[in-house]
Amino acid sequence: MTLACAVAAMALATTPPTVPAGPPEAARILAEALRGGSYPVLAELTDGVGARLAGSAGAEEAVRWSADWFRRHAIPVRLEPVMVTRWTRGEERAEVVGGTGGRPQPLAVTALGMSAPTPPGGVVAEVIEVRSLDELADLGPRVKGRIVLFQHDMKVAADYGRFSGLRIRGPAAAARLGAVAALVRSLSTATLRTPHTGTTSFPPGVAAIPAGALAVEDAELVHRLLGRGPVRVRLILGGSLADPPLVPSANVVAEIRGDGKPDEVVVIGAHLDAWDLGTGAIDDGAGVAMVLETMRIVAAMPRPPRRTLRAVLFMNEENGAEGAVAYHEGALSAGTLHVAAMEADAGAGRATGVEVTAGPGAKEIVGAMAAPLASLGASRVGGNGGGVDISPLAWAGVPLLSLAQDTSRYFDWHHGAADTLDKVDPAELAQATAAFAWMAWALADSPATLPRLAVPEREPWWKRPSR
Ligand SMILES: [Zn+2]
Repeated sequence: MTLACAVAAMALATTPPTVPAGPPEAARILAEALRGGSYPVLAELTDGVGARLAGSAGAEEAVRWSADWFRRHAIPVRLEPVMVTRWTRGEERAEVVGGTGGRPQPLAVTALGMSAPTPPGGVVAEVIEVRSLDELADLGPRVKGRIVLFQHDMKVAADYGRFSGLRIRGPAAAARLGAVAALVRSLSTATLRTPHTGTTSFPPGVAAIPAGALAVEDAELVHRLLGRGPVRVRLILGGSLADPPLVPSANVVAEIRGDGKPDEVVVIGAHLDAWDLGTGAIDDGAGVAMVLETMRIVAAMPRPPRRTLRAVLFMNEENGAEGAVAYHEGALSAGTLHVAAMEADAGAGRATGVEVTAGPGAKEIVGAMAAPLASLGASRVGGNGGGVDISPLAWAGVPLLSLAQDTSRYFDWHHGAADTLDKVDPAELAQATAAFAWMAWALADSPATLPRLAVPEREPWWKRPSR
């Protein structure tokens, strides 16, 4: 050891450990989560179960694995039956057909969830490029018989919301105008020529067409070639809906009963399914690991929280959200009183704060609950809490929460083949888990109750015919 090192070591030894503010349980919960138990749980899911698109054998294995995990930890668990969309990926290939634009060129493509298959031999058609749904509508009859390419310039995570409508609604809009197929530039912030999938929506009355995502590099190639002249692409996509399209699956629901106010329920959730190209480490294995580790830590506390803490691992967030709707409807018919719901579906990056969507005054109450997170640099409170799977609960007035996390690299890997365990930093996951576990305890145990949401006046999203 050099002198400098020795001095540094002494300084470390004499610096008092940061003791989090707030209730005495805070120090124990944060310390326990920071030991890093969430990472090996995530490794079991990604490396042991692997890909798990809803309706697949992998998804059913994930249901079995997570229910067994709760049983191993002596936490009561039940399966809530859900019928889920089963869509399977097939062969997928695309190429620029040689012609005036140049020689044939392969394109990296992957089908979007709910895509129809191409006919045997694929489709060959001229590409027409648009940058918005309005631009597509303006083209009108010129779209007929073409492959529509939805182009955009996503650069940072916050752009996802700006451009995701192109993927979700673009292919159906192209189908209505008679397009033979649609290609969407991958919604990603970085790429090593890996296309990123995701669901697309064909509402009732719109026959599905083949729809795929192009790697960013290939979307740019096609754009450049279009600058030289007409571009024809051959597209072979095998993705298709099963017959029948709905198959049985389940949400996994586990509970630690409250001592004092057991009828008041705090839900913590994440989604168990993941896109099939990778192993769903950041989307949403990390969230599942955070929820499981939180339940393990809370179950091991000297006493249970006052309210019931319920973990819900939702099925098929990615390609239908049937698990979210089934949970909401089941809880409604059971008359469950939810006092808060918190979702973990923003990856494995470090937590920077807590987001809450609730009635007036909620941010102040959550701010007081989150005070112990100052020791993690995660006590800032914002007003944007929620997630797809807990969003139906807004129609029951339930306050919705989530962590703010570092998502600067999330969309480099999201929905792609590179969403694998190596992208997860165990220390960052442990830090985010600590923030999540503490907030779960605080919501379940605090004497304060969050003010409820005014029930939205708009129609619930899961009842819209366009879904
Ligand atoms: Zn997700």
